[in-house]
Amino acid sequence: MAQQYESLDALSQACLSCTACDLSKQRTHVVPGEGNEKAQVMFIGEGPGYNEDQQGRPFVGQAGKLLDELIASIGMKRSDVFIANVVKCRPPGNRDPMPAEIAACSDWLNEQIRLINPKVIVTLGRYSMAKFMPGDSISKVHGSPRKIGERVVLPVHHPAAALYQQSLKQTLQADFKKIPQLLKEAAKIEEAKPEPKQLGLF
Ligand code: SF4
Repeated sequence: MAQQYESLDALSQACLSCTACDLSKQRTHVVPGEGNEKAQVMFIGEGPGYNEDQQGRPFVGQAGKLLDELIASIGMKRSDVFIANVVKCRPPGNRDPMPAEIAACSDWLNEQIRLINPKVIVTLGRYSMAKFMPGDSISKVHGSPRKIGERVVLPVHHPAAALYQQSLKQTLQADFKKIPQLLKEAAKIEEAKPEPKQLGLF
């Protein structure tokens, strides 16, 4: 069984010295993730880019600016949520993360999810979607929430993909608008404790 940590701080500290995959060789900083350890909403992106690698913080470049806008559009702040990535170190040249790297890094992400215990997980882009919905296509399932285990997972496009595509940005904005309602529904599900099922909220 993967190691369990007492707190997110302890996890982040340990993660800073991880060398479990080759991405450790070229990184400037590990980017474990940041935010509210009691967040009801957790965002999971793909991996750090240039700016994130330089600063050791997730979503601080242009895509991060858009993510901040999207979070604000649903009446929340970065400090209300938790933001992490599927891989915690930058793939060189911003290439896609490899399956072996995602697998090597999954214990960190799984432990973050366990510690935060969010009601809603919003996956940003296809790599984090694939963690929960392997085999699905982001262009087909984006914006369709699904009950997976204890949580609701909402797949949406990655903000970086929407930076230069106005139509995708509008899609992302529309998908984000579902989050407040999902939080309300998640609270009801918690009260009623029904069998896991796919939600047909929208
Ligand atoms: Fe470790 Fe993840 Fe970084 Fe690979 S990407 S070295 S598994 S923290």
